[in-house]
Amino acid sequence: MKSNTELKIYNSLTGEKETFTPIHAGRVGMYVCGPTVYNDVHLGNCRTFVNFDVVYRYLQYAGYKVRYVRNITDVGHLEGDADTNEAEDKLAKRARIEQLEPMEVASKYTNGFHDIMRIFNALPPSIEPRATGHIPEQIEMVEEIINNGFGYEANGSIYFDVPKFIQVKGIYGNLSGRVVEELQSETRDNLKKQDEKRHPADFAIWMKAAPEHLMRWKSPWSVGFPGWHLECSAMSRKYLGETFDIHGGGNDLKFPHHENEIAQNVGACNCGGANLWMHANMLLLNGKKMSKSDGNTISPTQLFTGDSPHVTKGYSPMVVRFFMLQAHYRSTLDITDDALQAAEKGYKRLMESNKILQSLTLKGGKQTEIDNEINALIDSTLEDMSDDFNAPRALARLFELCTKINAFKGGQLDINQITEGSLTRLKSTFNDFIFSIFGLQDESVAGEGGQSALEGVMQLVIDLRAQARASKDWATSDKIRDGLKAAGILLKDGKEGTSWTKE
Ligand code: AMP
Ligand code: ZN
Repeated sequence: MKSNTELKIYNSLTGEKETFTPIHAGRVGMYVCGPTVYNDVHLGNCRTFVNFDVVYRYLQYAGYKVRYVRNITDVGHLEGDADTNEAEDKLAKRARIEQLEPMEVASKYTNGFHDIMRIFNALPPSIEPRATGHIPEQIEMVEEIINNGFGYEANGSIYFDVPKFIQVKGIYGNLSGRVVEELQSETRDNLKKQDEKRHPADFAIWMKAAPEHLMRWKSPWSVGFPGWHLECSAMSRKYLGETFDIHGGGNDLKFPHHENEIAQNVGACNCGGANLWMHANMLLLNGKKMSKSDGNTISPTQLFTGDSPHVTKGYSPMVVRFFMLQAHYRSTLDITDDALQAAEKGYKRLMESNKILQSLTLKGGKQTEIDNEINALIDSTLEDMSDDFNAPRALARLFELCTKINAFKGGQLDINQITEGSLTRLKSTFNDFIFSIFGLQDESVAGEGGQSALEGVMQLVIDLRAQARASKDWATSDKIRDGLKAAGILLKDGKEGTSWTKE
């Protein structure tokens, strides 16, 4: 344990910052809701996964052995988050449109998601379970829920009985603050469509598949597929146990997804799942929630290449990651071109200062006021991260340290005013923060992580250009080539494909 400050985490379930005490000393079980792999991941999704990457990294830095489970949703998530079997499965719909097997759709977008996560230098989770790989576990959970009296069958579909659950357990709505009367009036309009349900707040845990539905499995009730909320209950329980430490996701999942997850866990095994719920806030684009449906969106690739009306130029993955670190995970973050330009400057300054710092040496240093200040800043940086992962505040302290580092270099401050031990501590903490905790890479250094991130981006851009060329979209193909040239990267088309060099 490098930091001796106790870790405090805001628990959405209690609405309070709590001292974190893992169930098993020294070990943490963390489950984060992963993407629904029916289209390209958007930057908002990336923000949530980068936020939890920093949480994962900091827990490890603090000395915990972490089992991080992040699922892949490849079945059951219906259009409009509905749960009537009239709504189409997001993946099945994409398979129909693209004339692919649903598994082909899932593989294509899972691969794309992994590529983007690698480019953002997000660590892979310890386990990445797929919903379609856990159908027996989900069927078993439905059986338990029925046996405990919280599920009922209607035409081969099984619904979770919310009023009964409230009557017996009295805890539905604790996470989201919703009350059933509210739910009832909210969903009254849909009642006609949902007449299989006894109550509008009930939700499907197993759905009978319509004849044209592509994804279907045998169950005791019908040939069908599991409800979306069920997979996370079944998979977190399988890999982390009936009670585990942390469950995370974007705050748009609080209701109904997470609320229903808790109800399912309690309904099946009388166990609540996670002790602590963490919710990351939304990424906005020019002040509005980033979402694909109203066109207010920018993809990671568009941001890297600058091929979007929302930006004046391309920004590198590490600049974007740095930009994300500048907001607390529980605050919204508004992506604007101006803010990205500022982040680019900040990122470069941080990397430059670290290079300077690592080359500093001293002879006969002593403990002075400056030495105390530096040590206090280092302590505060660790305290900030232990205070509900306050990355922006920790980052601000690093910038205060950058000012001192640059003053040592420029001679405005005498390096011998700090001790050898303090300089060593400063070097290692700075390095640890930038690379291990914040997960940044130095893009100016060839051969280090920076180069591999650039290689990843280049592969992505080259693939996009090849796609444009294959569909004779010469305008896009030329735009990519010219844009890269302006950024000092030359493309060369050859027999073996396209290669690139830096000017
Ligand atoms: P989905 O693929 O829609 O299931 O979402 C994957 C993850 O991204 C979930 O944790 C969502 O809460 C999160 N998410 C979706 N939109 C945004 C956004 N605009 N900003 C931040 N996170 C988001
Ligand atoms: Zn989930």
